[in-house]
Amino acid sequence: MLVIEKKNKLRNKLLEAKTTGKTIGFVPTMGALHSGHLSLIERAKASCDLVVCSIYVNPTQFNNPDDFENYPQTLKTDIDKLDLANCDFVFTPTFDELYESKSDLLDIDLSSLEKNMEGEYRPGHFLGMVTVVKKFFDIIEPDKGFFGEKDFQQLAIIKYMVSYFQLPVEIVGCPTVRENDGLALSSRNALLNKEQREAAPLIYKALGELKNLLLKHTIQECKDLITDQINQNKELGVEYIEIVNTKTLQPITEYSDQKICRACIAVYAGNVRLIDNIAL
Ligand code: AMP
Repeated sequence: MLVIEKKNKLRNKLLEAKTTGKTIGFVPTMGALHSGHLSLIERAKASCDLVVCSIYVNPTQFNNPDDFENYPQTLKTDIDKLDLANCDFVFTPTFDELYESKSDLLDIDLSSLEKNMEGEYRPGHFLGMVTVVKKFFDIIEPDKGFFGEKDFQQLAIIKYMVSYFQLPVEIVGCPTVRENDGLALSSRNALLNKEQREAAPLIYKALGELKNLLLKHTIQECKDLITDQINQNKELGVEYIEIVNTKTLQPITEYSDQKICRACIAVYAGNVRLIDNIAL
């Protein structure tokens, strides 16, 4: 496995491989790797000849400077994990390697896809995120990009960006990996204290009750019931819960076509912000 900081070096290595017909899978991450990330590497390994994983905490997608400062960084153990997972290239660029300046952002209108949920509560987050992913795609030119359904709105926005710029990359969505108690794996889980960690599985448990609740209550009543249930635990505070159309990400007002609904939630445990979602 090669760890590469310079984009030109990575590009040249990949061009060499491509001329011999090898396919490239790409997994972008912000590091602090856990089994969720490694499931994407595994998926990429299974369908591509070579796998590139990027580790880069992208400042342009953080709307909260404290969140950026506190983001866990564990580069050495990340590299060991990727080596064990048979990853081929790890790309660890610096800011200057990727960006001209802080205002070097992609020219794309995400308006309807970022109007609610993460887009509403983290203004600018998705523009920063698609900017860095587009930069990675331009450097790596992967055949396939692998993204977790854990970040459901992100996955939908990446698919939109790819179709908007007509990029020749297939976007593969991968299921959320969870702890045994249901908590979705997240790099931010490492920041939870004991009480918060014990409370956090309630998020997934409450979401799991939604399907049944929706048979008896209106969408708004269901959202209120879930919010109350979670907020009753003093460690947790719901920021939003939304039930949206899977493709358009617009809120659904009536629960009828079950196949196209997704429930998405953001919850604070102290200062730690956790997100999750389930198919309905
Ligand atoms: P991050 O490092 O948080 O930016 O995540 C990098 C990639 O891993 C994104 O595509 C995430 O959606 C994905 N990911 C994060 N957590 C999980 C999880 N628990 N299960 C599956 N994929 C995940």
